[in-house]
Amino acid sequence: MDKAIEYKRNHRFQNWAGTFVCTAERFYQPHTLDELKSILADARAHKKQLRVVGCGHSPSDIAMTTDWMVNLDYLNNVIEVNHEKHEVTVEAGMRLFRLHEILDKEGWAMPNIGSISDQSVAGAIATATHGSSLKHKLISDQVRELTILLADGTERTCSEESDPELFKAACVSLGALGIIIRVKMHVVPAFDLEMTSTVMDFDKVIDLWNSDKLWNSAEYVRVWWFPYSSRCIVARQDRIQSNSKPRTATSVWSWLADSFWGYHAQQIFHYIGRIFPSWLPSFERFVFSRRYGWALGLESHRVDNSYDGMNMDCLYAQYVDEWSLPVPTGAEATIRLRNWLINHDTSPTTGIPDHDPRGIFIHSPIEIRVTKGDEDDAYLSTAYGHDTVYIGVIMYRPYHLPTSYHRYFSAYEGLIHSLGGRPHWAKQHGMGRKELEDKYPELGTWLSVRERVDPEGVFLGEYVRRHLVEEKDVRGVSVANGEAGRMYKVVNRVGDEE
Ligand SMILES: Cc1cc2nc3c(=O)[nH]c(=O)nc-3n(C[C@H](O)[C@H](O)[C@H](O)COP(=O)(O)OP(=O)(O)OC[C@H]3O[C@@H](n4cnc5c(N)ncnc54)[C@H](O)[C@@H]3O)c2cc1C
Repeated sequence: MDKAIEYKRNHRFQNWAGTFVCTAERFYQPHTLDELKSILADARAHKKQLRVVGCGHSPSDIAMTTDWMVNLDYLNNVIEVNHEKHEVTVEAGMRLFRLHEILDKEGWAMPNIGSISDQSVAGAIATATHGSSLKHKLISDQVRELTILLADGTERTCSEESDPELFKAACVSLGALGIIIRVKMHVVPAFDLEMTSTVMDFDKVIDLWNSDKLWNSAEYVRVWWFPYSSRCIVARQDRIQSNSKPRTATSVWSWLADSFWGYHAQQIFHYIGRIFPSWLPSFERFVFSRRYGWALGLESHRVDNSYDGMNMDCLYAQYVDEWSLPVPTGAEATIRLRNWLINHDTSPTTGIPDHDPRGIFIHSPIEIRVTKGDEDDAYLSTAYGHDTVYIGVIMYRPYHLPTSYHRYFSAYEGLIHSLGGRPHWAKQHGMGRKELEDKYPELGTWLSVRERVDPEGVFLGEYVRRHLVEEKDVRGVSVANGEAGRMYKVVNRVGDEE
């Protein structure tokens, strides 16, 4: 059986940002379900862990292993488009960008997605990928039915009606329950998005947020915050009927703003900022004024199809950290972060008096987004129990070079943690089981479902073991501090400077 299915030996795998790398003893890309089942049986016979990897876009080590890795890029067919029930069923290796094109031709679309569409359907679901809308939940919420290949080789189909406990656990599974092989999802009639982007003063954004006039001001709302400019771009999008208005074409001006200033010039400035970090605030203000205009209230408008409108150019390699909070608490967190970063406020009210902001200069924007949430969500939904805001911090890696981020991310995590925040599963964080139990009321249920369907831990993976299973305090070995690789010998961070 070993020789029948091809695999790569000692396969070096790295995530999209190039921030984590591992060498998997075997790397498989099965072409059929039978092949996948054989690989699983073989892994069990060899007592190997099996990690499924999508397109490796998670900015943490969640998809990494030194044992066996399997990727479902060849199991990516559409199984059915059900026009009556507004549902599409696909094999789990389907990438979102391909799904959009297929659905578009049939007159359908996904109602909500994140900033990119490179992800595999199963990968996007597994880590609680979100977009930005208080009218919509996580992408996982679009799932109507899942079929999972369990560790014992059986296929199990679950939904809210059939085995709801497994379904709620598997809708955000972290890849640790089994191999998701088929997904049935809810779709909506294809639509376009009309967007208005406004240059807004930071304090005005906070006022709107606190008076409940920000996140409900359109169906999809995103905020990009530029702290040194004390300005935000507030992007509001509403649905319009597909092709009811001309879609916006790329103009010389938009190329200059987005491609020249937003990408190339910015990358050069980030490169220079590695040597002269205190110049970063001036660079931010300069690029902001060129890209968006400096005057408060300036607006720009555009119309796109739904997926181009929700996606954006995420530029180049980067370190990211993103946590979620209840929407009202998010405003307080944002103010505290501003006070710490810009005003160097280290009073106990910031929640991070032990973190010295002097000498810390950051990249922008800080991205702020929202998602609808309640107690019907998947057990590990980052929006479980309440409407949720996500605050994402970023340090780019110009030309794939390292930049300093440890002190910044560590302070940011301390602040959001002090307010009860939850880390995004796909992103690096330093939370252990004890802290996560406080943050996720259903973590115990998720762990017991996991134990039930995979008692030997074939799908456990080091990330899940480290953060969710072992009772150790992982703050001291935080991935954000770059120590997890040494501790667990699973991954080696690349490009760490500090
Ligand atoms: C540039 C960029 C932009 C992003 N934008 C957003 C955003 O807007 N919103 C957001 O929330 N996130 C965002 N992310 C994070 C991204 O959506 C998640 O990391 C997502 O999980 C990546 O999907 P993937 O296919 O690459 O999965 P991978 O990163 O390869 O794997 C992620 C997890 O999925 C599991 N998995 C994959 N396939 C299967 C399967 N068939 N069965 C079971 N488990 C499986 C893996 O084991 C792993 O645990 C972004 C990431 C990048 C790099």
